[in-house]
Amino acid sequence: MPAWENNIRKVVPYVPGEQPKGDSIIKLNTNENPYPPSPRVLAKSEEFEKLRLYPDPKAEVLVEALAKYHHVDSNQVFVGVGSDDVLAMSFMTFFNSDKEILFPDITYSFYDVWAELFNIPYKQIPVDKDFRIIKSDYFIPNGGIVIANPNAPTGIAEPLSFIEDIVKNNPDSIVIVDEAYVDFGGETSLPLVDKYDNVVVVRTFSKSRSMAGVRIGYAISNSKLIKYLNDVKYSYNSYTMNMPSLALGVESIADEEYFQAMIKKVVDTREWFVKEINKLGFTCPKSSTNFVFATHKSVPATDIFKAARENNIILRHFSNERINNYLRITIGTKEEMEKLVSFLKKYVG
Ligand SMILES: *Cc1c(COP(=O)(O)O)cnc(C)c1O
Repeated sequence: MPAWENNIRKVVPYVPGEQPKGDSIIKLNTNENPYPPSPRVLAKSEEFEKLRLYPDPKAEVLVEALAKYHHVDSNQVFVGVGSDDVLAMSFMTFFNSDKEILFPDITYSFYDVWAELFNIPYKQIPVDKDFRIIKSDYFIPNGGIVIANPNAPTGIAEPLSFIEDIVKNNPDSIVIVDEAYVDFGGETSLPLVDKYDNVVVVRTFSKSRSMAGVRIGYAISNSKLIKYLNDVKYSYNSYTMNMPSLALGVESIADEEYFQAMIKKVVDTREWFVKEINKLGFTCPKSSTNFVFATHKSVPATDIFKAARENNIILRHFSNERINNYLRITIGTKEEMEKLVSFLKKYVG
């Protein structure tokens, strides 16, 4: 073994859901939005003439659009290449304690990967038997807290008061609230940003804004924490945001009506789909997201997963023991979900 082997940072990477090629597949495994982005986004191609230039390192147009949208100051907004980038930067910036950071055992499976990558000690706190986060478990000494609300892959949302209790009981650490799915029915923690000095709310354009391919995420916090985040970003890569993303992000924010209409379509389909699968013997926690986390009373999740795959329907299955009899099913178009329901009727019915 060469000596340099000892000096290499070895990590077990996060494994994203499969991105198959081909149009005949019903893809319900990575929580993408089935509808196109706003027509305003699609019309914005003139921006591409400016691609020979570096983008604005401050991403000002997008930061200002987001600040206006959320009624905060522009120095309270940080943007990044998807919320994965914003979360990774936040871990690097805010979690530099010898104490363990805390997050649930069942949650977004990137958190432990970043903790490992950045050598941050961490503790995964078990959710209860109904997959609910137990807030008092977070009232212990720690180096930081990360809560996805609504949580993934369970889809469960907790109210603002629940997050506020965690924040209030942890004045000595930064609490990151990952709101990737909040637009589909959660309660935002944004009001806490002005009330406490230790809250960072992270959002993404990938799910509710149908822009997973563009890679835009952002954080909202107080100006002090946003400055710390920017200092880390400028020490790593000044040009994280490319020019088309900046322009397209602004257009998406400008089209509130379209945004609300697409969310309503997804939520309506979700409510219909849950009723349909309940009739077939599936149960799932109440979803406040664009996916449902479903288990069947007798047919194992892995069997359903494989059979669906053979029928060109891709769902998400996790090997983690606590949830390996569940499937995370993204809400697609009504037509896609009808096809899934008719497959399930034949398969488990
Ligand atoms: C999808 C997701 C993200 C990352 O989304 P980006 O595409 O990187 O913005 C972050 N957190 C949770 C909980 C997610 O489900």
